[in-house]
Amino acid sequence: MDSEEFREHAHRMVDFVADYYRHIEKFPVRSQVSPGYLNDLIPAFAPQDPESFDDILADVSNIIIPGLTHWQSPSFFSYYPANSSTAGILAEILISGFNTVNFSWIASPAATELEIIVVNWLGKLLELPDSFLSGSSGLSHTATSRLTYCLFYSLGKGGGVIQGSATEGMLVTLCAARSRAISKHTPNGLVEEDVVRRLRAYTSDQTHMCLHKACKIAGIKLVVLPTTKETNYALSPALLRGAIEEGGDDVIPLYLGATLGTTSSAAVDPLLDLGEIAQEYEMWFHVDAAYGGSACICPEYRHFLDGIEKADSLNVGTHKWLLTNLDCSVLWVKNARTLTSTLSVQSEYLRNKVWIQASEAGEVVDFKDWQVSLGKRFRLALKLWLVMRLYGSSKLKNYIIHHTCLARLFERKVTEDKRFEVLVPCRFGLVCFRLKAIEASSVNALNENLLHAVNSNETTFITHTVLSGDFLLRMAVGGTLTEVKHVIKAWETIQKKATQLLSFK
Ligand code: PLP
Repeated sequence: MDSEEFREHAHRMVDFVADYYRHIEKFPVRSQVSPGYLNDLIPAFAPQDPESFDDILADVSNIIIPGLTHWQSPSFFSYYPANSSTAGILAEILISGFNTVNFSWIASPAATELEIIVVNWLGKLLELPDSFLSGSSGLSHTATSRLTYCLFYSLGKGGGVIQGSATEGMLVTLCAARSRAISKHTPNGLVEEDVVRRLRAYTSDQTHMCLHKACKIAGIKLVVLPTTKETNYALSPALLRGAIEEGGDDVIPLYLGATLGTTSSAAVDPLLDLGEIAQEYEMWFHVDAAYGGSACICPEYRHFLDGIEKADSLNVGTHKWLLTNLDCSVLWVKNARTLTSTLSVQSEYLRNKVWIQASEAGEVVDFKDWQVSLGKRFRLALKLWLVMRLYGSSKLKNYIIHHTCLARLFERKVTEDKRFEVLVPCRFGLVCFRLKAIEASSVNALNENLLHAVNSNETTFITHTVLSGDFLLRMAVGGTLTEVKHVIKAWETIQKKATQLLSFK
């Protein structure tokens, strides 16, 4: 394909995507296909000869779109939002267009340096302590960029990096904590296997399963502490302390995973109190703010980050609620060297021979040493740069507040209907609610039926959770295109389905 043909196809593809968004409300929010639907529609072998772009676009319309659940529909209220934006889509065009592989500074200096700067922008918007920001030596990045850059990295201070997911952020920090513990305890006569056997990570039963996965991969035992309705499903510091003490001398407390905005109910763990315990026992303290973190750019929500100064690391999934299309998850660490000393593996063919002195003095960053994979997309560096420049922080803050107001509106509607109850106070954009039952024993079944009934309707899609044995419906507001009318329509659908269900009783 020559550049003129590409230009023509690209224009048509942009038209296609623009039309998709224009008509997105016409599609059923949740895909209506059955498992295996595509087998009969796509040949079992790849074509031998080139096919036409027209045929392919027609297939996207006719056989791919029906198999999509439309996460960008304004009536998608399931799981958590996965924001797309025009800025994010435009940035993705650039990212794919350049297709640089940014594992080291020399592999694409702009990618590395932009990532450092833009992650810092976001850190400043969140009012993170200086210790998480690059240039935390106190010198300004712009004034003496090279000097600051050198100082920051050679001192091994804090900084941020874009990971593909919260899961990867947890895995790399857990591995860094494990290495730190092995270095600390092996000189005391313990062999490495003995140290690892005694290490424990602690978390609540509301923490996202990604910490379970990270612990599985890293071979670390995870102690899961129960939460209750009384604490709104936040982790109790007293319970944590008790569990650590109970382990006695045979256990080495390693890692504490707290959450700012749990997946089930958007609970926020008390960071300050938990952080103090983590410091007392010299544990790595990680805060998973994959969902709730984006809200903390607003002064109204910043207080949820109080205590973050006690943390060793923090992740915020801007691909959830900050308009930077999947994938874009930011991880900040207070001591970057703990990551690089754990993850750095050298090989001759990757060495920077152009700026060899800068490389060997550690003056330039090689992000391959901050993540699992070698290859690295341009990702957030370009996406958040475009998002922040095209919208500005004021619009981003308004965007978050818009969603939280919509969630409050929905919560009000639920409480006004005496057949329903809100079981956990609405936080951020999430409302957890259920239909009350005449007989308590059948309340879960009733709400499960309500969920099926609501989702059988093609115009709304919500999901559920179970908290303290209660089956709850989750209304997660946060879609880029969601407006008041969509929330009202969803509520009216839920009410209508509830009326139908109750009339059968
Ligand atoms: N942490 C929380 C609180 C989440 O809600 C989620 C996903 O919903 C994750 C972590 C996992 O995120 P990722 O897909 O980026 O690993």
